[in-house]
Amino acid sequence: MAKVSIGLRGWRFDEEEIISEDGELRPLEEIPEEPRERLVRLVGLLEEPCDVCYLEYGEEEVHRSKEAEIVYGEPGGEVLLCADHEPDFIYWFREAGGSEHKGSQEFGDRFHEWVAAGNEAPDGYASVEHVEEDPEGLPDLPDQHEVQKRLEENFEGDRIDIRALAGETSDEDDEDDRLSEEELADSDVDLSTEYPSNR
Ligand SMILES: [Zn+2]
Repeated sequence: MAKVSIGLRGWRFDEEEIISEDGELRPLEEIPEEPRERLVRLVGLLEEPCDVCYLEYGEEEVHRSKEAEIVYGEPGGEVLLCADHEPDFIYWFREAGGSEHKGSQEFGDRFHEWVAAGNEAPDGYASVEHVEEDPEGLPDLPDQHEVQKRLEENFEGDRIDIRALAGETSDEDDEDDRLSEEELADSDVDLSTEYPSNR
């Protein structure tokens, strides 16, 4: 099964699980729970700054931070990186004990602490050799704004469906939010994220 990334490099999805035969993003309800959780999380991460840039410049100078291009880790405990700072992450993961935290929610925090302590990859440390998807063999993926729009549309759809199923209660909005959050929180995260060391 082909693996694809959407929006940000790093997290990879089984193409068949998220893309329909006509090359469109599947409706959320057709996507299995684990990739759906990551997709939903991904939308919240688009256009966020690189973590290392952010640690360097802070909120006051956030405009100097580069937008993240890469995401590693688990939903909720992820690391966001620009291409310039990816070698720091790879170094931490491979050489500085980062891989011990693989699959944990503390993964991102441990990396951030390492960076905040002034660590970085040695000069010239090679970045990961990316396994680039074959552009010929892939459907045209919607760009990140399109993905975001679709996910939002899908959420609208979900809310309406849940409301219809639940009947018209007065606190239906609260119910709906709680339901979806529990659903996401309960999902067992399958540690299928591919880390560079697995390649
Ligand atoms: Zn950066």
